[in-house]
Amino acid sequence: MIAVQTERLPWHQPVWDQLVGCHRRGRVPHAIAVAGIAGLGKSRLATRFAQTLLCVSPRSDGDGCSRCRRCDLQAAGSHPDHYAVYPESDPSGPIKIDQIRRLIEFLMQSSQYGGYRVALLDPADNMTLAAASSLLKTLEEPPAAAVLMLVVRQFSRLPATLRSRCRLVQLQPPPATFAREWLTERCPDAIGLLALAGGAPLRAMAYAQAGVEKRYAALIADLLAIVEGRRAPVLAAQDWIGVGLREWIELLQLALAELARAVFAECETAHIAGRADLQTLNQRIDHSCLHDYMEEVVAIRRVLDQPLNEQLVIEDLFIRWRIAARGARLANDRVSGHATKGAVRRTPGDPVGFHQR
Ligand SMILES: [Zn+2]
Repeated sequence: MIAVQTERLPWHQPVWDQLVGCHRRGRVPHAIAVAGIAGLGKSRLATRFAQTLLCVSPRSDGDGCSRCRRCDLQAAGSHPDHYAVYPESDPSGPIKIDQIRRLIEFLMQSSQYGGYRVALLDPADNMTLAAASSLLKTLEEPPAAAVLMLVVRQFSRLPATLRSRCRLVQLQPPPATFAREWLTERCPDAIGLLALAGGAPLRAMAYAQAGVEKRYAALIADLLAIVEGRRAPVLAAQDWIGVGLREWIELLQLALAELARAVFAECETAHIAGRADLQTLNQRIDHSCLHDYMEEVVAIRRVLDQPLNEQLVIEDLFIRWRIAARGARLANDRVSGHATKGAVRRTPGDPVGFHQR
């Protein structure tokens, strides 16, 4: 098994060459957005380039030398000219305005070692609107020799005013044949999960290590059983309590995306458990309401960092799945009759209505 954590990822090479080229010409942009879906190693690429910028004399391939004092400090996380901002609690939680203010203070200081000051914002998609607005002025009038690297899943989710001031470095999943080959030496179990991971090798590996395939198949089986009337949504929901709402929603989105694509013939998921159920499901459901249902799921996902009643959310989404899959329009009120019987009430300012009491 190869130590993937420290390995150079080959699909980074084209963008790496661009970044190194900028550095050699002394034309490093003030703000660089490293964008791409989960599982391509965006953070790793940003950190790698930060090391290059902070190193005294990078190697011929553009990487930091790993021998100088500055490289040592960066590896130890204590380089005074390096600053990183992450969500404070939950990795998927917000990046707040106070964090951005501290980041701006750092960028305004002068360099301790006389070179670049490099800041990392990861994931920049998680900035609140206020946080993003507070960053704008700094990007409009960037301090000299300061480089801000924004790691983003979806570049389009950043405000247009920020986007126009960033150099976009877009990472793409490697070709499927290449990804399969790469995984063969590292994590063969992940090969069948590549399509589920959107072609991102690291994400497919994470799925394999977390046993996602089995749960995905179980969810597909539940979706089919509910559509066919073999299983009551409330009973199906009980089996999912404790899995974690975030993972459950993610699996549901994956299943819906597969259904929306409906291209099973060329699909890479040939040996994934649940494929037969997915094909049957594809024939059973009315696709016309799938989009509305997906929107509902996205709306819940957006508020996942708030305390939600897991059981009621899953029950309600299963109930609404049954309605949508049969081709009926979903009512505007996101909380079904069943869910409102519990201890949850829809309150003003509560976009979903599943908040924990
Ligand atoms: Zn060095």
